[in-house]
Amino acid sequence: MVRETRSTCPYCGVGCGVIIESRDNQITGVRGDPHHPANFGRLCTKGSTLHLTASAEVTLQTRLLRPLQRLQRGGVLYPVGWDDALDNAAQRFAGIVQSDGPDAVGFYVSGQLLTEDYYVFNKLAKGLIGTNNIDTNSRLCMSSAVAGYKKTLGADAPPACYDDVRHAACIFIVGSNTAYAHPILFRRIEDAKRANPALKIIFCDPRKTDTAEIADLFLPIQPGTDVMLFNGMLHIMLWEGWTDAAYVAAHTTGFEELKALVRDCTPDVVAQTCGISKADLLEAARLFATSPATLSLYCQGLNQSSSGTAKNTALINLHLATAQIGKPGAGPFSLTGQPNAMGGREVGGLANLMSAHRDMANPEHRAEVAALWGVPTVPDKPGKTAVEMFQAAADGEIKALWIACTNPAQSMPDQATVRRALERAEFVVVQEAFSTTATCRFADLLLPATTWGEKEGTVTNSERRISRVRAAVPAPGETRHDWKIAVDFAQRLERLISVRPEPVEGHDASTFSELRQAQPERKGGLFPYPTPESVWNEHRESTRGRDLDITGMDYAMLEAAPQQWPLREGETQGVARLYTDGVFPTADGKARFVASAYKEVAEPRESRYPFSLTTGRLRDQWHGMSRTGTLGRLFGHVREPSLLMHPQDMDRRILKEGDLVHVTSKRGSILVPVQASSELGLSQVFMAMHWGEEFLSGMGSTGQRLAGVNALTTSAYCPDSKQPEFKHAAVKVLKA
Ligand code: SF4
Repeated sequence: MVRETRSTCPYCGVGCGVIIESRDNQITGVRGDPHHPANFGRLCTKGSTLHLTASAEVTLQTRLLRPLQRLQRGGVLYPVGWDDALDNAAQRFAGIVQSDGPDAVGFYVSGQLLTEDYYVFNKLAKGLIGTNNIDTNSRLCMSSAVAGYKKTLGADAPPACYDDVRHAACIFIVGSNTAYAHPILFRRIEDAKRANPALKIIFCDPRKTDTAEIADLFLPIQPGTDVMLFNGMLHIMLWEGWTDAAYVAAHTTGFEELKALVRDCTPDVVAQTCGISKADLLEAARLFATSPATLSLYCQGLNQSSSGTAKNTALINLHLATAQIGKPGAGPFSLTGQPNAMGGREVGGLANLMSAHRDMANPEHRAEVAALWGVPTVPDKPGKTAVEMFQAAADGEIKALWIACTNPAQSMPDQATVRRALERAEFVVVQEAFSTTATCRFADLLLPATTWGEKEGTVTNSERRISRVRAAVPAPGETRHDWKIAVDFAQRLERLISVRPEPVEGHDASTFSELRQAQPERKGGLFPYPTPESVWNEHRESTRGRDLDITGMDYAMLEAAPQQWPLREGETQGVARLYTDGVFPTADGKARFVASAYKEVAEPRESRYPFSLTTGRLRDQWHGMSRTGTLGRLFGHVREPSLLMHPQDMDRRILKEGDLVHVTSKRGSILVPVQASSELGLSQVFMAMHWGEEFLSGMGSTGQRLAGVNALTTSAYCPDSKQPEFKHAAVKVLKA
């Protein structure tokens, strides 16, 4: 008999609801959930093929089904029992913490973990071990959006919702190939345009992607010049009297400084810098400011930048200056790349965040978290962010790494450094569902995790909506749930670290032992969780009184319907749209303009590296393809990796379609076929992010082992958000 289980799609941040069909403990089908408010039954190609990625055949070929360990680096993997595996891991971590201090270990987790998984890892690092060295691949995805919201609006809370697409009179899509990266949201935009042909859509991106097809105005700016564009638009709005002086006076601070900054951003300067016409610049400013409601949708084109935070704040400045916020159809709306980057941010699962949007630098906030967890203190020193963590491991400063549900040996920039880090670290644990990822090769201990269709918990999508994730089938083989692995490890570690460590020069060695000695005795220690719901209930309590307060929700309510936060105790429905009263979560209740001058990309193109390389997604693939790469049909759209280049640039270099080229940056080189594309401007090249060495090895066309495009990308990052600049590296291209 077919059983139906409601859950969510594990790919992008749209967070579509799915109904999983299963029979005899095997997933047999999937369809969109018609009642889920993110998608109302629709699914894209990735979501609608999920069941095929969970077939018995794919599971056998790709899944990690039992714990494995290596006795020496580079050696073969041997099966090991869970108890031995976790005892060993706890002893290695305890030993390193006691000899080198809490900051000698690091956790690198994932925006694809569920909120419950995230919560336990965060508490394990910050509450038990006493290090803030826990970061996540969300650092590569959303940290500039986090910093942008906090600096301007006072909290990491996207103010808009999907329904705003329907109410907008102007939609400004910038740095997002929404048609590919958030396909079901793009369907809403198409619906809105059909229902209201007067809706104006501005699309801004260096590439003329498929998203451009719906645009009334396309702005093909030079890579990395967004801040100049936004400041130039504000310059025009001021000249034309299109700003809202009353809103600015009543609800914001800092406008005079910003006005002074944008005075020099004249249309001539902006058009020249961004590579667009003055007429288009003027039209963009007019549509944005004078439309009854303007909604901005943005993603990695803004975030993955050495100016990521400045790009976010400069765009939010436009919304504040024109009062395009806090009303239906208006507001800045960051699209989350991953399915649960939002949930990770909510539990504070990043190296510079604290639980429930608390501030790490605030002693009262730290005390609140410590009290909630039943520990004396939580550390105040920000931990290592993703790039810093792998650099520290490469330098020998971090000696043990725990990597969960992510594949840094493909997805991090500057692969040479990342791989050096994984080789140098004394102990690397990889907690994974798939045995096929590049990072598995570097693991001393591989711990098999459950994945989509097997897990219970919650996720939060781009519009702050929390959905239940449900298991349709039992855990295969010896796999365990991610939260459970973290708990089983933490409980062992908790027992081991009751011995006072020797003081270590240069850090507060007392944190670790005092924390343990001062703890109240409680059943189950710091991690007394029998179920994911018990974890979630503790997280829920941590949000009481915060901007993301969810004390009015419980699993039973979420069983009935997904809910948006905040939803406080006693309330029955979440809040669709924030700041409708013009009051912001800052000390004075006012939003803050941030004056950020335009800065060039970290690595401008120059005579030896004359091309701008940008990276991005394909329509039918996801991240490193550990799941989507198992299905032949998802290669129907794009069959193999290639470097896209403008036809004129190919002519100048006497390159033909399919010729192999060496693409080289200061960090590495890859060999790949070239393909003509008029999507790109001159002197720009593009390569999809999905292909890594596992998929390219032994392929007929090249026969090369490649580390993928991240052999080339730079780890230069935004000084505020620490998000690396995947969206620009200077490269040269030579015929092989
Ligand atoms: Fe899944 Fe995103 Fe496609 Fe929805 S739009 S089905 S969440 S990949």
